[in-house]
Amino acid sequence: MRLYIESQGCQMNERDAERLAGGLLNDGWRLAKNPAEADLILVNACSVREKAVNHALGRLRQLFGLTRKRPNLLFGLTGCLAQHLGTEAREMVPRLNLLTGPGAIKRLPVLIKTLHGPDDFAFDLDPADDLTPVFDSEGDYRSAHPAIGPHAAFVTIMEGCDNRCAYCVVPYLRGPEASRAPEVILAEVEHLTQKGFSEIILLGQNVNSYRSNSYRFPRLLREVARIPGIRRVRFITSHPKDLSRKLMKVMDSEPAVCEQLHLPLQSGSDRILRAMGRGYTTGHYRKLVQLARELVPGLTLTTDLIVGFPGESEEDFQQTLELVREIGFDSAFMFKYSPRPGTPAAELPDDVPPETKQERLVKIIGAVTESAFRRNRELVGERLELIVEGTDKRGEPYGRTRGGKRVKLPGEIHRPGSVCVAEITGAGPRSLTGRQVEA
Ligand code: SAH
Ligand code: SF4
Repeated sequence: MRLYIESQGCQMNERDAERLAGGLLNDGWRLAKNPAEADLILVNACSVREKAVNHALGRLRQLFGLTRKRPNLLFGLTGCLAQHLGTEAREMVPRLNLLTGPGAIKRLPVLIKTLHGPDDFAFDLDPADDLTPVFDSEGDYRSAHPAIGPHAAFVTIMEGCDNRCAYCVVPYLRGPEASRAPEVILAEVEHLTQKGFSEIILLGQNVNSYRSNSYRFPRLLREVARIPGIRRVRFITSHPKDLSRKLMKVMDSEPAVCEQLHLPLQSGSDRILRAMGRGYTTGHYRKLVQLARELVPGLTLTTDLIVGFPGESEEDFQQTLELVREIGFDSAFMFKYSPRPGTPAAELPDDVPPETKQERLVKIIGAVTESAFRRNRELVGERLELIVEGTDKRGEPYGRTRGGKRVKLPGEIHRPGSVCVAEITGAGPRSLTGRQVEA
C-alpha cells in the first residue's frame, strides 16, 4: 500500500506529517512519489487562519478528481484542521475516509486497518495518550523539506500551548502545553547526527516556556548545540513575554546556535496588544530587541504581524507601521486578522472592513520589504558561511547564512548540504547573491 502525504501550515505540522508517515512506513506502507500513484492520500492541514482552511479544503476537492481513474483511493484529513472541523468535515468533504487530529498520530496505523473501501469512514479526535512523546528511533522518518535543505531536521521540544492569545485557535486544537523530557530530545538529536543531519530546528509554540522540572530552554539549547556533529541550531517560536537574557547569552556563547530570532510582535499598539492578551507592551518589545542586538551581534530578526484585529483604529495601525519601521525587521509573516471559531476574539465584532485590512496589509508589507532590503544591502561585501540547500527553478544553487538568509550562487556548482564561505555581491528584499570565496 502506498501513501502520499501533503503538509500545509507551520513547521510543527511538517514534523507531525513525518511522524504520521513514519508510523505507516514502519507498518509496511511505502511512499508514493505523486498522489496519482497512491492508495491513501493524507492532507495534514492547518486551521490557524481562515485562508489556510479554504486552501486545504480546496486542495482536497482537487485531489478527489483522481477517483475518476482510481475509485478505491482513500482520503484522509489530519492535523489541527481535522481537529477544528470535527466530524462535520465529512459533510463539507463527503468523499473523506479518515479524520484524525494532532493527538492521534501514534494511533493512525491501527485506525487505518479499519478502512477497507471508499465508503468507509473512521475518525480519531482524542488527545494523545502520551502528551510528551518519547523518541522511537525505529519508526523515525524524515522527509525532504525544500525550505530547510537536506542537512536540516525539525525536532519538536514541546506540544500545545497554554497562552490564550485572543485571536488564536492553537491552544484549543493542540491542547495544553507539555514539554518533552530533555533526555528524549537529546537522544533524538544524537540519532539525527548519526543519520548525517548537522542542523536542528527546535520547534514549539512558545519555546521560551519549555520546562521539564527545573530544566529550562536555555540549558536545552546549550546542550543540543554541544552535541558533536551539530553545526547549526535554530528555534521557533519565541514569545516576547518569555524571552530571557539568559537565552540571548546562550545564543551568543554557543557557536552552533544561529544568530536568528523569530519574535512575533503582532501589533505596534499597546491597546491592541492588551486586547490580544499578548502579555507585553511595545516598550518591553523594544527593550528586548535592543538587548538581543547588543548580546547577539549580527542578529537576524523576523516577526509575525496581524492587521485588522477587532477595534484596530487607523491610529493603532499607524503605530504598528512606525514600530515596524523603527525596529527594522529582516522579514515578517503578515496576516489579515480572521476570526477563528471558539476563540475569545471571535466574540468581538470583526469591525475592520475587508478593504481596510487589505490596504493595511499592503502598507505593512511595504514597510517590511523596505527594511528587509535595507538590511540586506548592508551585508553586501561581507563574507558569510553558507550551507547549500538546493537549486532553484532555474537550476542555480542557493545556500543559507547562519542568520537564515537565502543566498543565490549563480553559475556555481555545489552539493546540497555542503558548506562554503561566500562574499555577498548583491542584495534584494528577499534574498542575497554571492560567490564562493572558500570551500
Ligand atoms: N505560537 C506562535 C504562532 C502560532 S500561529 C506564536 O505565538 O508566535 C502563527 C501566526 O499566525 C501568529 O503569530 C499570528 O501572527 C498568526 N495568526 C494566528 N491566528 C490568527 C488569526 N486568527 N488571524 C490572523 N492571523 C493569525
Ligand atoms: Fe497561539 Fe499565542 Fe499560543 Fe502562539 S502563543 S500558539 S499565538 S495562543
